[in-house]
Amino acid sequence: MCGIVGYTGADAAQGILIEGLTRLEYRGYDSAGVAVEQDGGIQVITRKGKVAELAHTLGHFEMTGTCGIGHTRWATHGKPSEANAHPHTSCDGDIAVVHNGIIENFAELREELAARGHAFKSDTDTEVVAHLVEEAYADMGDLQTAVAHAAGRLIGAYGLAVVCAHEPGVIIVTRKDSPIVVGRGAEGSYVASDIIAMIDATRDVVVLADDQMAVLTADDVAYFDMEGRAIECAVTHVD
Ligand code: GLU
Repeated sequence: MCGIVGYTGADAAQGILIEGLTRLEYRGYDSAGVAVEQDGGIQVITRKGKVAELAHTLGHFEMTGTCGIGHTRWATHGKPSEANAHPHTSCDGDIAVVHNGIIENFAELREELAARGHAFKSDTDTEVVAHLVEEAYADMGDLQTAVAHAAGRLIGAYGLAVVCAHEPGVIIVTRKDSPIVVGRGAEGSYVASDIIAMIDATRDVVVLADDQMAVLTADDVAYFDMEGRAIECAVTHVD
């Protein structure tokens, strides 16, 4: 399992995501990528190799978007490559997903989704999640509900962070058997798979438990169970 970062707030996301991914490099990884909400859509950039290469490429884009997610990948399904690096997207590119872990039933889900017309762009287990969320979102029109529905179809281990072009500034997070921490800083809301990625922004974090969801916006983080009922989560201070 490798690294997840996410940020939504007042500042440009690009630099914050790269900083977080750099902090997660110690875990080892084979590729890296980010998805940033930009100009009403989602711009995804991935690179095989080092975060520094991704940062170099991002330097040409200078995205100003203030909400995004990022990932360092340790390949389990599909070779290390630009196409297999996260974030993975829906057919229309409006939904982007980063995932730590393994989706054990991905082959059945992929077959089912392909039969309904979904076109796959990678060999990963992860990409099924983007297409499941896409279908659920088309049905339900609400990203939190759509991610909960998609997660209900998954067997395996996952830490997930999801963004959608139609819900700008929102990051939906959930997990099962894969670590996720969430925190509020002075300039926005943060998610990561390891506190070290957000330690400069905050030392007060919520360690998400299995089958809990966090809804991050620029001004707030709210916590829910998988049925959408609000829950209280204890804040842990990290020295
Ligand atoms: N199973 C996913 C993949 O191979 C995620 C791997 C990871 O946790 O980095 O793309």
